[in-house]
Amino acid sequence: MSEHILNICYLVASVTFILGLKMLSNPASARKGNLVAAGGMSIAIFATIFLYRNAETGEHLHNFGWIFCGLIIGGIAGTLAAKKVKMTAMPEMVSLFNGMGGACAALISLVEFNHLSKELALNPGSEFIASSQSTVLIIVLGLIIGSVSFAGSMIAWGKLNGKIKDFSFTGQNVLNLVFLLVALVLGAYLVTNPLHANFIYIIFILALLYGVLFVMPIGGADMPVVISLLNSFTGVAAAFGGFLYNNKVMLTGGILVGAAGTLLTILMCKAMNRSLKNVLVGSFGGNKNAVATGAGAQGNYKEITLSDAAMLMSYANKVMIVPGYGLAVAQAQHTCHELEKILAEKGVEVKYAIHPVAGRMPGHMNVLLAEADVNYEKLEEMEQANDEFKTTDVVLILGANDVVNPAAKTDPASPIYGMPILEVEQAKTIIVNKRSMKPGYAGIENNLFFQPKTSMLFGDAKKVLQDLCTEIKTV
Ligand code: NDP
Repeated sequence: MSEHILNICYLVASVTFILGLKMLSNPASARKGNLVAAGGMSIAIFATIFLYRNAETGEHLHNFGWIFCGLIIGGIAGTLAAKKVKMTAMPEMVSLFNGMGGACAALISLVEFNHLSKELALNPGSEFIASSQSTVLIIVLGLIIGSVSFAGSMIAWGKLNGKIKDFSFTGQNVLNLVFLLVALVLGAYLVTNPLHANFIYIIFILALLYGVLFVMPIGGADMPVVISLLNSFTGVAAAFGGFLYNNKVMLTGGILVGAAGTLLTILMCKAMNRSLKNVLVGSFGGNKNAVATGAGAQGNYKEITLSDAAMLMSYANKVMIVPGYGLAVAQAQHTCHELEKILAEKGVEVKYAIHPVAGRMPGHMNVLLAEADVNYEKLEEMEQANDEFKTTDVVLILGANDVVNPAAKTDPASPIYGMPILEVEQAKTIIVNKRSMKPGYAGIENNLFFQPKTSMLFGDAKKVLQDLCTEIKTV
């Protein structure tokens, strides 16, 4: 009976994962989607703790003290970390949590191999060995993928918080490949000869080394794409755990994470017009002080005063706001919403143009603006926004740079050539707010800032927006 209830709980949990993922695709339902999937996961966890029975021995789980200690410590640590994290540090936290998932999958493999090898030592007959081989294969694959994901995610986390610097040496890619190949060959050997139990630790160490060296040379700024890729690895490793325990919900969850992570990686590469290979072996965005010289000297830029900017926007019919990474850094989303409301009171139509890779993680701008209660209907996706710029009087760019760089369309030598951009040049006037003429993520100069239609409004986004609000009220 308890087995049937357990299976129903797993089915319910699997359905909530799918529903939750679906709801995450829309900002209006994303928060609820997260809760639905988390609710499903809680059902799966507690159903396993209280209803699971070993098929052979009929035993329920015991060690409740250990299980609940782990749940409470992990639950408190996760809640505190998620509550404290700043939006700009989100990729860092995702990486850390993802690494924990990879470590779990690797530990499951080590523990289960230990159990199996004890049984094999007691019963080393060829029949039992043959029947164990498929289990060893699943264990080895889960171990390799989980360890790579754990080690890689930890390096990505260290790089994002500045504790680890990019590091590479000649022949690194070849050495990496050798580590991976040796791990795979030893894994294949262990599957056919599971009595050589110590090999599992060599495979574990090689996979960890591969994970470290694989992520080490990748430009720090490419980390969000790598994290998404590692996330899909963790999903696959967890799915192997599902096979191992014949646990359907673990299998479904793992496959969903693996598939979602892979799709997200592909989408991010597409939105940046880069191949995954280029992200993994190129060093795009690694050097934040570099300015691409391809386009040569860009000429002079002009500045606009706060009162002129306020005047222009107050008398405009339509203003489009382009948020970017700088808005998130300045935490100016609430002041931005304030500006939108003040302009709307003056009869100005205000909308937001959202580029798919603005900021540092997918959906970054949507989440940021949702935090400030900006109405979702005011957010225009790139294609829609590009149609609207023609009829826009003022575009206000807040801490965005690469996503409005026309070099993506006009300069084949540019590293971002081919990336779809927000075509703000079509509007009548463009006001760019940033703190200096420094480049953005891609490390390249932006010709938009030197065009006759463009004026620079220098300063921290929050301070500039606060001052703009005050000025506009007096117009
Ligand atoms: P960019 O990184 O191109 O530019 C951000 C700009 O914000 C900088 O030029 C900076 O200029 C300015 N800035 C920083 N702090 C402030 C502040 N406090 N106030 C005002 N301005 C500030 O950002 P975009 O959003 O335009 O582009 C995102 C980039 O990230 C793209 O290249 C994309 O490919 C990449 N990327 C995005 C991912 C995603 O999923 N969203 C994932 C991986 C990469 P200054 O220092 O002069 O102030």
